[in-house]
Amino acid sequence: MIFDVHVHLFPPEVTRRIEKYTCRDPFLAEICSSKGHKYATVEDLLAEMDKCSVERTAVSGFASSDPGLCREMNDYILEAARIYPQRLIAMAVVSPLDKMMEEELDRALTNGARGVGELFPWGQDFALEGEAVERLAYYCQERRLPLLLHLNENVGHQYTGKGDISIKEGALFAAKFPSLSLIFAHWGGGLCFYELMPELKEQLQNVYYDTSASPFLYSRNIYRVVREIGILDKILLGSDYPLISPRRYLRELEGSGLEAHEIKKIRGDNAARLFSLDS
Ligand SMILES: [Zn+2]
Repeated sequence: MIFDVHVHLFPPEVTRRIEKYTCRDPFLAEICSSKGHKYATVEDLLAEMDKCSVERTAVSGFASSDPGLCREMNDYILEAARIYPQRLIAMAVVSPLDKMMEEELDRALTNGARGVGELFPWGQDFALEGEAVERLAYYCQERRLPLLLHLNENVGHQYTGKGDISIKEGALFAAKFPSLSLIFAHWGGGLCFYELMPELKEQLQNVYYDTSASPFLYSRNIYRVVREIGILDKILLGSDYPLISPRRYLRELEGSGLEAHEIKKIRGDNAARLFSLDS
């Protein structure tokens, strides 16, 4: 099974009136005005999945600091997953700073959400420590909901959306909630490499890493490196579509030097296990 865990869709009604939202959320404004930004609908995604032979996708909207926009995003994603239950898994977006966060998550779960994210600690202006994020962590941990969080490298070139909440905060957060299934996006901003340290390997047992934006960040040698580190069971295909097509990752994987059975894990078996699907 090919299973993509990291995709962002925008409801067409939101895209049409995007200025109404960008004026309330500076991070959204920054993302939407960046050079590579694209909007995709459910129909666009399904067509791309068919082209790339992707069977399942965990779909997110855009996590805003504006709870009203999160709700609109969730409505669209939940409806899509209801119509295409064999293809799409709904991820809910919320702001941990929203006092009504639990109510929105309850609503999303009742309507079929199976995970939370991608949330942007830096972009949504919440810390990975303290009361707000802990409420979210306990909520997800108790209900066994995977939580997809954006982390990025604190070195290298600058790009839109790159923030300074990164591997240190991510590692401490993971250690504090050992039963919470975490997906750290973008290879966890490089946190995956620290699994070479025995104490970090221990602390990060509950952490998965997705490959999103990898072609913009790392050479394809990264796949052989994570095999060497011994964490192939924790790597999930994440495309960040529509930013990049899943096709590009599948091609990189084929040329990565990994064995077929190892590629199969990253392409979907690990994600199927995490989301309790038959692969
Ligand atoms: Zn991200």
